[in-house]
Amino acid sequence: MESLSLLWRIFPLVILLISFLIFYAYTNPSKQSRGDCSLFPHDNFWVASKHIVTPQGIIPGAVEVKGENIISIITGGNWRQKIKSAQIVDYGEAVVMPGLVDVHAHLDDPGRTEWEGFPSGTKATAAGGITTLIDLPLNSFPSTVSEETLKLKLKATEKNLRVDVGFWGGLVPENAFNASILDGLLRAGVLGLKSFMCPSGINDFPMTNTSHIKDSKISLDPRDDPRSYLTYLKRRLPSMEETALRELLTVTQDTRTCGPADGVYLHIVHLSDATSSLDLIREAKSRGDSISVETCPHYFAFSAEEISDGDTRFKCAPPIRDSANKENLWKALLEGDIDMLSSDHSPSEPELKLLEEGNFLRAWGGISSLQFVLPVTWSHGRKYGATLEHIALWWSEKPAKLIGQSLKGAIAIGNHADIAVWEPELEFDLNSDHPSIYAYVGKTLPGKVLATFMRGNLVYEDGKHASAACGVPILAS
Ligand SMILES: [Zn+2]
Repeated sequence: MESLSLLWRIFPLVILLISFLIFYAYTNPSKQSRGDCSLFPHDNFWVASKHIVTPQGIIPGAVEVKGENIISIITGGNWRQKIKSAQIVDYGEAVVMPGLVDVHAHLDDPGRTEWEGFPSGTKATAAGGITTLIDLPLNSFPSTVSEETLKLKLKATEKNLRVDVGFWGGLVPENAFNASILDGLLRAGVLGLKSFMCPSGINDFPMTNTSHIKDSKISLDPRDDPRSYLTYLKRRLPSMEETALRELLTVTQDTRTCGPADGVYLHIVHLSDATSSLDLIREAKSRGDSISVETCPHYFAFSAEEISDGDTRFKCAPPIRDSANKENLWKALLEGDIDMLSSDHSPSEPELKLLEEGNFLRAWGGISSLQFVLPVTWSHGRKYGATLEHIALWWSEKPAKLIGQSLKGAIAIGNHADIAVWEPELEFDLNSDHPSIYAYVGKTLPGKVLATFMRGNLVYEDGKHASAACGVPILAS
């Protein structure tokens, strides 16, 4: 009887304790709620390092993440004394910088997933420290040139995105003169339009104009050896880039403030010619045209002199040019004449690279690089004086601005907790599933990516990926 009355007496206490535990579980900021989206389950935690790259410079300190966002930042080496939470990921000397934003990648989904698809492509993206990727409207089939084709692409993304992915639409003759198709495509959420000033290599993505081909002085002797890299260079002269640019710049003149096309913005992709084409861009910028330009790591990681005849791993368009051109690209990047970097990741099936035949004229043109862009940029860039701030500017801040994503591209309070953690001094071997087709494979470079957070989710760490794919499509509003 006595033990029963004791039980009744402590019963209210037990109820109170249970209520408290339930309340704690729901209100504790570090509660585990990320499910399979993250390798680190806590909703509220801190990411600390001695080198956090912020818009105000590199700081020692800690960044507080809650849900999808950064909610506070502590600056200073004594950050530990100011944090009560036990949920701290301290990366020590490693660099903590905004996740990379790659505005130019071809993931070939839907329709050519045997080349690449959203599942494997965004896995490589996460492993490379890239947290936002913008997919090009071609090498998928169909190309993204209408509202319907964008819907097919969105369907293909379902449960397949490891990072956030946005989409360029294609400007092709079919929709260029049909306002309702183009309007539908834009209203469906593409972030901008991509057009080709030369044949794209994809049949359902025709070029928009032909006049530059008439103008450029291409002379290909039928006796030229198709295995020779020089033969390929002769077919893709810098003058082709220059002619295309000249034509484009007739449009950009109208894009100046109060011009007839005020509000239209032109972004030049994968600039490879650092001579007359670059001069044209410099002139346009100085005149106040609304224009920006990107180049890609392969144009400054390699030079034509190093490419052996028959080694079609290095075929891309426009082509990798000579070493003097490479030096000039670096100069232009460091001086701000080239605004940003992108991967132009362009995979294909290994057979299409025709490695045995070595025919540069028939092989697929494209270099796959998503998981390597950070170490490649860093290892080459630091020889020219590039800093960690440059890397964040070229790979995060400027690309995020281009695609209008104000919550991405910088480690700042209120922004998405998109974070790349990497070791600038740690060398590692670049490797991949298809080593034979990768131009970068076999190299040992410093700049290993340790971890990637995408909207607060630890999506990649030390070779492991979160089990669920929790990226979302980015659509223009
Ligand atoms: Zn491309």
